[in-house]
Amino acid sequence: MQDWKVGKWGWRKGRLLAVLLSIVPSFPLSAQDYRAQALRILKTVPLIDGHNDIPDAIRQRGGLDSVDFAVSQPKLMTDIPKLRAGAVGGQFWAAYVPVTTMDSGPHPAVYALEQIDLIKRLCAKYPRDLAMAYSAADVERNFRAGKVSCLIGIEGGHAIENSLGALRMFAALGVRYITLTHWRSLSWATASTDTARRGLSAFGRDVVHEMNRLGILVDLSHVNDGTMSDALHAARAPVMFSHSSARALTHHARDVPDSILRLVPANGGIVMVNFNPGFVSEVVRVYEDSLEPRARALKATGTDSAATRDSLKAWQARAPKATLQQVADHIDYIRRVIGVDHVGLGSDFDGITQVPVGLEDVSKFPDLIAELLRRGWTEPDVQKVAGLNALRVLRAAERVAAELRREKAK
Ligand SMILES: [Zn+2]
Repeated sequence: MQDWKVGKWGWRKGRLLAVLLSIVPSFPLSAQDYRAQALRILKTVPLIDGHNDIPDAIRQRGGLDSVDFAVSQPKLMTDIPKLRAGAVGGQFWAAYVPVTTMDSGPHPAVYALEQIDLIKRLCAKYPRDLAMAYSAADVERNFRAGKVSCLIGIEGGHAIENSLGALRMFAALGVRYITLTHWRSLSWATASTDTARRGLSAFGRDVVHEMNRLGILVDLSHVNDGTMSDALHAARAPVMFSHSSARALTHHARDVPDSILRLVPANGGIVMVNFNPGFVSEVVRVYEDSLEPRARALKATGTDSAATRDSLKAWQARAPKATLQQVADHIDYIRRVIGVDHVGLGSDFDGITQVPVGLEDVSKFPDLIAELLRRGWTEPDVQKVAGLNALRVLRAAERVAAELRREKAK
């Protein structure tokens, strides 16, 4: 049989087809195509989110018996049907400890223990869908078994109550990261909202070293720039920012400045981008910052509280919104500044009250992955941001912990 390109006329037909193809624009993939591609990728690699506050949201609703996690909960950003729709492979659940526990109520360590207990009971209650994970290997095994991994991260270093013994016991319970501070500074680490220039104290550096030895990741979300820098210099293992975005795009103290971002590649760590509208949209941040002075100015005019409330409501109704695309901008930015190996996802779902348009809950992760694909990201790069970077960091922390223990044993 004659090849259609070989014959005189066939060759011309081939040329004609080539010319036609070159002038007909290739059809761009549709949004559905990118979403389908995203879902296909998330079958090959577990999507790991750095921070989700459902444990405290459940606690505030009266505990595990008050919330059926197996059915869709319209008022929550997280439940099993949404986790499944979002193809989530692993979740760091926040054992969040309010800073007010430093003043009254249950001790911070007790509050942390109760949160860890809630996470473990939540995971045990839905064994068909959830499984505890204490290592990178656990996450991979659970993923192969079709289950969402439950990892524990303590939010707020006040949980250890200045005790390395308590820290070691949290490690024994399976805690895999500790956010060094929440909104209030500790004697050994300074919070992002503190005007003090201090960073880590000598004891703070001891905490970091002990966390490295135990294989607990040092989480630098919520700390100030001095503490970020001190911890990055003190750490032997990769650090993480479990839920922080890029300050160059949104000038929020909770985001990571370029000067710190540039220290991350040598450390091998990861910055997991937060979805909080005020952290990803500069317009929203400026708007949110303006609310308090507005309320104060209204009060100063002698307007009664009901009228003040109405005015504030009217302002809120006109509030600007952040978007999924802006979250993707932060991911893109961090990739550009420090490389694709150091960026991940840290939604902060159920800890935030507002959400970006398009990223309303955990079921929307594939839309964010689809946006990266639409922007021309390759599949291997998407896999890294979705979960491979987080797995690498977990594994590196496990390796460093084993090395440090061997050194100490000598
Ligand atoms: Zn937080």
